[in-house]
Amino acid sequence: MVAADGGRSGIRSAMNLQMEGASYEGVFVIADIQIDLPFPTERLAFFDPDWNPGNTILMHREPHGIWRVDYQLPPGETPEEALRPESLKARIDAQLAMIGHAGLKWAMDWSSVYSARTLTLPDFVHGSVIFTGDAAHLLPIFGVRGANTAFQDAQSLGWHLAFVVKGLAGPQLLANHSTERVGAAREIITEAGKSTRFMAPPSPGFRLLRDAVLSLSLTQEFVRPLYHWRTSRPHEYTHSMLNSRDDDNVLFKSGPAHGAPPQNVRLGDTGGEGDFLLDHLGGGFELLYFTDTDLSEDLQQVIKAARGKGMPLNVIAVGAAQPVSGADKHLPDADGHLRERYGIPAHGGAYLLRPDQHVCARWLALDAKRLQAALTTALPTRQT
Ligand SMILES: Cc1cc2nc3c(=O)[nH]c(=O)nc-3n(C[C@H](O)[C@H](O)[C@H](O)COP(=O)(O)OP(=O)(O)OC[C@H]3O[C@@H](n4cnc5c(N)ncnc54)[C@H](O)[C@@H]3O)c2cc1C
Repeated sequence: MVAADGGRSGIRSAMNLQMEGASYEGVFVIADIQIDLPFPTERLAFFDPDWNPGNTILMHREPHGIWRVDYQLPPGETPEEALRPESLKARIDAQLAMIGHAGLKWAMDWSSVYSARTLTLPDFVHGSVIFTGDAAHLLPIFGVRGANTAFQDAQSLGWHLAFVVKGLAGPQLLANHSTERVGAAREIITEAGKSTRFMAPPSPGFRLLRDAVLSLSLTQEFVRPLYHWRTSRPHEYTHSMLNSRDDDNVLFKSGPAHGAPPQNVRLGDTGGEGDFLLDHLGGGFELLYFTDTDLSEDLQQVIKAARGKGMPLNVIAVGAAQPVSGADKHLPDADGHLRERYGIPAHGGAYLLRPDQHVCARWLALDAKRLQAALTTALPTRQT
């Protein structure tokens, strides 16, 4: 059973599972209002405004004439008090007055309250129950990663679970899914926790630091990166048990390393403007073989044997101007653009991507034995 029943997961409660991490005290009202404001589509942040001293306010445009206003509540105010219509009206009017639009007509579309939490289950797989999305982790709103991460969980779970159910891999593969996705949740918690402490400082020390950054940033360039954390970096499964142990990963000077997602490169010399590498991937493991010659008999044997066991494995000959024996597809790379982005030297090389397209092996020289070893590592069976 996949428990995707959200942040208040009844299944998680019924199984008495505890999440690990922190809950922050700062409570915010979120209000979507219908209004015609002449501001560009960018996020506005106000710290310590006169009408809400010591607290933070965010505003941004949404589709269909809606603006979202998030404002922090003074300590001690209950959600019920904050959501009273007169309270909402007074505060939104005060905010509009502060930005120079007092009296502008607006109507409430939706409102709620939230506080930031940085919590995750330490393991997503419990017997035959697998937790995913908000049921598995609660990521702080200031990282804007909750839904994004839930999709990535599902993308990961899809292939891990399918391979186990089909008997192509042992239960270790599901354990790997859990380890990788808990790792992703923890990384996001670390990153988004920084934004949370900036938006709603949990202690006088954090507030002092935040205020110093804000005031210095007006004149000092060096502090500006402190409020520009990247919160949407793709997570890399650098230490995944599925990564090949005897490939050439460490010898590469560039290109996506073990566990990284592939770089999407435009294939200008093949299908024109709208043709990208990722459009050619999907549906299983992918061997990106940078070659313009036929695959050796040995290599073709290994590929055939893997497919014979039911493993979906596509082979793409990158840099081949015409079809290559043993490859399902060829992608010309006349100017060597793709080869360069993947750090492949002139004599060639190869990448093995998992069904979720993260890199699990890469070689400067590929042979049948090395491919076999990587496939065995990437799909642990009951015996391995
Ligand atoms: C105000 C706000 C703004 C946000 N902004 C962003 C953002 O900008 N970017 C972002 O990535 N994330 C954002 N998030 C987070 C995002 O909404 C959640 O992380 C995401 O919705 C989680 O998806 P989920 O499918 O795991 O859970 P949910 O969306 O909560 O879905 C769970 C579903 O399970 C159903 N359910 C529960 N119990 C049962 C049951 N017993 N039987 C059947 N169904 C059941 C529920 O009704 C619900 O439909 C925001 C959240 C909030 C509150």
